[in-house]
Amino acid sequence: MFETRGLRSGYDNLEVLRGVDLSLAEGELVALLGANGAGKTTLLRTVSGLLRPFGGTVRLDGRDIGGLPAEKVAAAGLAHVPENRLVFPSLTVTDNLALGAWTRPRTRAEDIERMLDLFPRLRQRLGQPAGTLSGGEQQMLAIARGLMARPKVLVLDEPSLGLAPKVVGDIFAALARLRHELTILLVEQNARAAFKVADRVLVMDRGKIVMSGTPEELADDAQIKQAYLGGG
Ligand code: ATP
Repeated sequence: MFETRGLRSGYDNLEVLRGVDLSLAEGELVALLGANGAGKTTLLRTVSGLLRPFGGTVRLDGRDIGGLPAEKVAAAGLAHVPENRLVFPSLTVTDNLALGAWTRPRTRAEDIERMLDLFPRLRQRLGQPAGTLSGGEQQMLAIARGLMARPKVLVLDEPSLGLAPKVVGDIFAALARLRHELTILLVEQNARAAFKVADRVLVMDRGKIVMSGTPEELADDAQIKQAYLGGG
């Protein structure tokens, strides 16, 4: 449903992705782990059209979207929620959500209601400028904004970064509710939280996918335990 084959990408002369093959089935939630600098963010930026691939393919529903500009990739059904929680700080929560629906203005009101059901904390803050929200609320808004376009594939870059455990719990509960409604690729350092919601886990190392398995399979792996699950 969503796949890359031999995907290579990077910056100027630096090749970061050195042939990434991944394949997500419709409705699957796949977590991507990897050490700092492995290329996870570069992968998300490449599939969402923010970086041009050096080579290889990206397919969404059989359509080759590799190398398309970000707005065309978004229109093809892929939403990217970047690491830095890009909300428009001076616009209200409602206006941020409405902007996420630019491709589907007719279902905007209904979709805002769905997002408030998913993230109830945003309901009391609809009229508030997004820049005055807490970090966790901004992350919820960034995810909700991505979902407003009703994407087929949602790619999320470290949604738990820097957030308190309670808020991380709320965000992962929302991801669990979205499971099987759409296809999700989740880059996450919080391996424990990721293992709980993921159907499958991939590990990236130096620009390649080096391991893939169910959370149960990988949780038994000594190296994974050591590197991501805090030993024991
Ligand atoms: P992290 O968990 O630290 O975010 P990551 O797996 O997401 O790591 P990337 O951010 O994709 O890794 O970075 C992969 C490599 O690309 C690193 O060596 C990094 O220094 C390099 N890199 C990232 N962004 C740029 C850039 N804008 N220009 C040049 N090199 C970059």
